[in-house]
Amino acid sequence: MGYGGRRAGGVLEDLLEKAGGCAVIDGGFATQLEKHGASINDPLWSALCLIKDPALIKLVHWEYLEAGADVLVTSSYQATIPGFLSRGLSIEEGESLLEKSVKLAVETRDRFWNNAKKVPENSYNRALVAASIGSYGAYLADGSEYSGYYGMDIDLAKLKDFHRRRLQVLVKAGADILAFETIPNKLEAQACAELLEEENVEIQSWICFSSMDGENAPSGESFEECLEILNKADRVSAVGINCAPPHFMESLICKFKKLTDKPIAVYPNSGEVWDGRAKRWLPSQCFGDDKFELYATRWRDLGAKLIGGCCRTTPSTIQAISKALKKGGKVENS
Ligand SMILES: [Zn+2]
Repeated sequence: MGYGGRRAGGVLEDLLEKAGGCAVIDGGFATQLEKHGASINDPLWSALCLIKDPALIKLVHWEYLEAGADVLVTSSYQATIPGFLSRGLSIEEGESLLEKSVKLAVETRDRFWNNAKKVPENSYNRALVAASIGSYGAYLADGSEYSGYYGMDIDLAKLKDFHRRRLQVLVKAGADILAFETIPNKLEAQACAELLEEENVEIQSWICFSSMDGENAPSGESFEECLEILNKADRVSAVGINCAPPHFMESLICKFKKLTDKPIAVYPNSGEVWDGRAKRWLPSQCFGDDKFELYATRWRDLGAKLIGGCCRTTPSTIQAISKALKKGGKVENS
């Protein structure tokens, strides 16, 4: 039996077409929650807000829709059932929080779209809700999503088991697509792709890797080996890079173009560097919104189909990207 009730193929392509060939993903979630005063100094990170302040999650989704996001990524990146269990919640409570992460995004999208579609010639598209599935390393919260090293005990079966229940719950909750994020190695990419098949998931999905050197997956494995697996996976509709610095994107898009026919998604962080062990952002080269505007056009011209931001990017980053892409992309003479 499948979940979601829709066949693979469709919503993502429809969106790309409506968006003029290149759609906008939203930006950093935790960054924006913090800006509104949420305290996310916790292993569960932004997932904690699902318990404490769901209204704030809706506010952040709304801000990204206003900024022009065509895809809302849910607040489930670090929300996992084992994570919730370690906080003393039951499995049922954990599952209902995962479900809530999708419902909050769907409700906000619907409310926003009901308003937007009343305005003739509005520049918005009806956004898709992408349920975020962070890597196993994101759950460990030890920085291993950036090293790709999960230890000797972790194998394909364990990674699938780690991802299985959350994936089932998110699909059933009504997400439009699944977003596997910051995948650091080939093994986990394979686990995700095989899981989509085993669970007969009928909504579309993308799988995005992080990169620490701008050339390979964080594990040191080449994207050639990683994409070889994903190219054979029909249920993976798009592939790409997230949470790597923006200046890596240009060469990575070119590399991916040579290695795959699937649409390419890029949503880099702001260029600041996260120290996974010390759990803090290191001061470094920071990219302003004007820079993102230039980047977005260049990335689109190189062939990226989905462009947005990850950690430390904000609604104003997404607005800059949206403005740049909608300028030349959208057909005005309808
Ligand atoms: Zn990030």
